[in-house]
Amino acid sequence: MTIPENKQNPLKIAIVGSGPSGFYASEALLKSNHNIKVDMYERLPAPYGLVRSGVAPDHPKLKQVTQVYAKIAESPDFRFFGNVTVGQDIPTETLSAFYNAVIYTCGAESDRKLGVVGEDFPGSYTATEFVGWYNGHPDYRDRSFDLSHEVAVIFGQGNVAADVSRILAKNPDELRYTDIAEHALEALEKSNIKDIYVIGRRGPAQAKFTSKELKEFGELEDCNPVIEQNELILNSMSEVELADKTNVSNRKVYELFKGFTGQPPSADKEKRVHFTFLKSPIEISGNGHVEHVKLEINTLSGDAFSQSARGTSKYIELDTGIIFRSIGYKGIPILGIPFDEKRGVIPNIDGRIIDNSSIPIPGLYVSGWIKRGPSGVIGTNRADSVATVNSLLDDLTQPFMKSEKMGSSSVMKYLDEAKVPYVTFSDWKIIDQSEILRGEPKGKPREKYTYTEEMLNILN
Ligand code: FAD
Ligand code: NAP
Repeated sequence: MTIPENKQNPLKIAIVGSGPSGFYASEALLKSNHNIKVDMYERLPAPYGLVRSGVAPDHPKLKQVTQVYAKIAESPDFRFFGNVTVGQDIPTETLSAFYNAVIYTCGAESDRKLGVVGEDFPGSYTATEFVGWYNGHPDYRDRSFDLSHEVAVIFGQGNVAADVSRILAKNPDELRYTDIAEHALEALEKSNIKDIYVIGRRGPAQAKFTSKELKEFGELEDCNPVIEQNELILNSMSEVELADKTNVSNRKVYELFKGFTGQPPSADKEKRVHFTFLKSPIEISGNGHVEHVKLEINTLSGDAFSQSARGTSKYIELDTGIIFRSIGYKGIPILGIPFDEKRGVIPNIDGRIIDNSSIPIPGLYVSGWIKRGPSGVIGTNRADSVATVNSLLDDLTQPFMKSEKMGSSSVMKYLDEAKVPYVTFSDWKIIDQSEILRGEPKGKPREKYTYTEEMLNILN
């Protein structure tokens, strides 16, 4: 049957993932002048993706964006199906059969590999695991991190590395009144970590921190930022980079690094975050547990803004009891959807998912980190999702957009028969309120439920 979209027969669009890109895609669809029903699928009972489980607990203002998302969810044309993993609880082809189009906004939930000997040695963790753990993500609830050592090493100099090192550097009282997961606060209270080495493979002019995040290291109650003066010597291409008018961000970061070298360390502060550059891990080793990391000293080669790190065959060794690899996230394939293994993204042209011959597959779209890779802040996903929705709206004349689809009514029947206990947005609001109430006596904005079963039990 082919009927164009009309009042009786709205277009049915599914969105897979409830992070920023999923909500911005929903917003763009619902704001368009078309008669559209949007159903959002999320594998966890709780929405909001990395805004809930990535953004650091001590950055509460950034989480206020969830109020905007909750407003989008109030639309009568929007429906939320939480606790449904697309590709597992419902096959991707079944989902496609129920909708005119599906937009995949499922983020980048895995991580890049360092590719060095001993990478997965006990005591060497990914930032993804640690961040998920302190933020109460059910996947990482039962991880444990041995924080009994005095020295921690973090590889990578992006904002996730800044989050991880800042959480390790803060004293528990600086975290107590945030929405940090209870189990993480308890473990951090017992932490012995004193020295945190944040190691970049390139130089201080190429660090990917933003100045706002880096500045916080100068304001910690119990920790001094430390940089050796000679670490800030620049090669000529880096000088060109920092002199470039458009490169405001790196210039500000470099100035902050310089400020840290000039700052006499306060004697009453117990911890130190050491920023060090031009070093790559070669081997992680120890007696059954991380004890040492061998680092190769690098030099930079290439033109300004495309300089890469090259080993010099000079090595140093650092003793450490715990390592966090914070070198970028990576997408995970979903059964039935094309995947670019190398880049960890869903291949697409302008948000239209493409097959092996680069031909768009009717009715399949993508947005957010799983479209462009794991970079960009929350707001970056808005323009990205609007662009994908524009591609979708440009396709409205295509036959697959004109056939009548059953949308949520068929899905509910399917999920009921498959005995998948899906969570509606009203259900989520009950969980949300319960978390807020649990937090109140402790002075926390919320005490998160960290097991899926706990959240489902509240609803029972
Ligand atoms: P995500 O936010 O990851 O959302 C993807 C969603 O899809 C998740 O909820 C996931 O559970 C769901 N999903 C995955 N697979 C399936 C499936 N098969 N079926 C159903 N659902 C599925 N940006 C800032 O602006 N400020 C910050 O302070 C900040 N802090 C960050 C801290 C960390 C540790 C990280 C990693 C990122 C941070 N960012 C921050 C960046 C920001 O979080 C991302 O730009 C943004 O979350 C990406 O949005 P997304 O919707 O593409 O992916
Ligand atoms: P990122 O910004 O891309 O940083 C990754 C870091 O890992 C870089 O320093 C990179 O160095 C390094 N790296 C990559 N491969 C490596 C290797 N093989 N060996 C050693 N180092 C390696 O990624 P991210 O920190 O995961 O952040 C992801 C996005 O989320 C970013 O856009 C970030 O701004 C955003 N975010 C924002 C906030 C915030 O606003 N507060 C907080 C967290 C995250 P090279 O430069 O040499 O590649």
